[in-house]
Amino acid sequence: MCDESILDLDELNEECGVFGIYGHPDASQFTYYGLHALQHRGQESAGIVSTNRDKFHVHRGTGLVTEVFDNERIRKLKGNIAIGHVRYSTAGGTGIANAQPLVFNFAKGELAIATNGNLVNANRLRKELEETGSIFQTTTDTEVIAHLIARSQAPTLEEAVKEALGRVVGAYALLILTNDQLIAAEDPLGLRPFSMGVLGEAHVFSSETCAFDIIGADFWREVEPGEMIIIDQDGLRTSRFAPRAEGKICSFEYVYFARPDSNIGGINVHAARKRMGRVLAEESPVEADVVTGVPDSSTSAAIGFAEATGIPYELGLIKNRYVGRTFIQPSQELREQGVKMKLSAVRGVVEGKRVVMVDDSIVRGTTSRRIVNLLREAGATEVHVRISSPPVKNPCFYGIDTPTRDQLVASSMTVAEICEEIGADSLSFISTEGMVEAISGAAGGTKRGYCLACFTGHYPTAIEDEMAIGGKR
Ligand code: SF4
Repeated sequence: MCDESILDLDELNEECGVFGIYGHPDASQFTYYGLHALQHRGQESAGIVSTNRDKFHVHRGTGLVTEVFDNERIRKLKGNIAIGHVRYSTAGGTGIANAQPLVFNFAKGELAIATNGNLVNANRLRKELEETGSIFQTTTDTEVIAHLIARSQAPTLEEAVKEALGRVVGAYALLILTNDQLIAAEDPLGLRPFSMGVLGEAHVFSSETCAFDIIGADFWREVEPGEMIIIDQDGLRTSRFAPRAEGKICSFEYVYFARPDSNIGGINVHAARKRMGRVLAEESPVEADVVTGVPDSSTSAAIGFAEATGIPYELGLIKNRYVGRTFIQPSQELREQGVKMKLSAVRGVVEGKRVVMVDDSIVRGTTSRRIVNLLREAGATEVHVRISSPPVKNPCFYGIDTPTRDQLVASSMTVAEICEEIGADSLSFISTEGMVEAISGAAGGTKRGYCLACFTGHYPTAIEDEMAIGGKR
C-alpha cells in the first residue's frame, strides 16, 4: 500500500479493522492471520491483546501487521481469548499512543477495547469528561467509550457498556476484552460491517468475512445494528442497547473499501461491483475498443461493464505492488507524477485504441487526470471514463478519511467540468439509484438500507456542529 504523503494520491481510506476470538488455544495466532486479512483497512498500526484469564498480554506497534508481529511476539501473547486491531487514521492522529486495542484498569477490572469507525459526538463527550476529571491518554474516539464505561455506576460491565453506547453517536464495530469475557457491539445503524463466525468450538468476530476464510472459520451471521453479544464461560448471549432498525450499511464498503472476497449483508462484494459495472454500462454506454479497470478495486466493475457491452476487458493498467511505506521520498518532479510509481499503462493493450477506463470513484480528481494522461501517453486515441459510484460531494464522518468538502472536486464542479479537468473524452458516473440497485440486486441479499451521505449529503445521524462546518474534520 502506498504512502499517501509520498505519492500524493487521492484515494479514500478506511480507518480501521477489528478481529476477535473467544475459546481457542491459538487465539493470538488466529488474530494475527485475521488482522493480516484486514490489512487493507489500516496500515499505520496494529495491535493484539490476549488473556489467559489471569492477566492481559499486549503488543502494539506502528506499521504493517507483518512488521509489528513476529513468531516470538505472538508466542508471548498467551491465552484463549484475543482481540486485534489495524488502524489507518487522520482523525485522532497517528503514532503508537493511538494504536489499538487500548488497555485500561478500572473499578471492574482490566479492559481492552478496539473499534472500527468514528463517533460524531466524541468532541463534546471528551470535553464533558475532561471537565469532570477524566484524563485522556490518547486522542481516539475509542478512549471516549472507555471513559464512559469506567464512569458508569451500573452494577455489571455489560450494563456499563450499554450505558456508554447509549451516549455515543456514530459508526462503530466494537470489541471489548476482559479477563473472562469478549463483548462485541455494532452501532445502532450498522454503518460498519461486522460479522460473527465459528471455528470449531471458538467464536470469531471480524470487520470483514475475508478474515474467516483465511483461518478456516465458518460465517455464522452479522452482528445486528444495536446488538451487543457477550461470550464468557456461561456461553453466548445477546441483548440490545438500541431498538431494532433497518440499518444503514456504508455503501462505499461495496464500492471500494471491502475486499472483493468479503460478503456484507449476504452480498458478495465482487459480485456487487460487477453489477455496478453492468448498470453503469446500461446508463452510460459508449463506442470503444477496449475496457480496462483501475486496479485493484475497479477490476470487478470493469469486468461487469465489459460483459454488458461486449467490449473486451483487457489489463490496460498494471499496479506496481512494491511501492512500500519505506519508499524513498521522490523529488518534486517525480512527486507530481506519483501515479506512475503506482500504475503503468500497458502500451500493447491501449495503443491506437478507444479505451473505456472504469474507476470506482473520483475524490479530488488529481489521480483521474494522471491516469487519463498515462493512457494517452501509451497511445490511447480516446479515453472515456466511467465511475462506478455517484459523485462524492460530501465528507464522511463515520470512519472514512475523506478530504474536506472544498477539496472534493464534485462538490464544486459539474460532470462536464470534471471531464475537462481530468482531460477525458467523456465522463459518466453511475446514478445513486443504479448503485443501490446494483448492490442489493444479489441473489440472497438482505435488502438492507444504505448510508449514501457522501453522495447525497443526507447523513443518517445528527452531526455535531463543529464537524459539519465546511465539512471540516
Ligand atoms: S458517508 Fe459515505 S463513506 Fe461515510 S459511511 Fe456513509 S456511505 Fe460510507
